[in-house]
Amino acid sequence: MSYSHYAKAFKQLDAKPIKKAKFIKFNQPKKRSCGFSLRRCKNCGRVRGHINKYGLHICRQCFREMALGLGFKKYG
Ligand SMILES: [Zn+2]
Repeated sequence: MSYSHYAKAFKQLDAKPIKKAKFIKFNQPKKRSCGFSLRRCKNCGRVRGHINKYGLHICRQCFREMALGLGFKKYG
């Protein structure tokens, strides 16, 4: 559970509030000041394949879908 959000496990733990509190206490990711996990895709939240260029802040998969709409053209 390194990339995806740790809160995804809450869906299962909602039935067990004490276990949920324990899970939050011990499995909460630490606050980061820098690093790749802060640079997430605006659209889908993916960490890998991130495009910072031109202030896009989206992943390469979302870029492929949105490129034409953003005004990018493919030559050749
Ligand atoms: Zn994305």
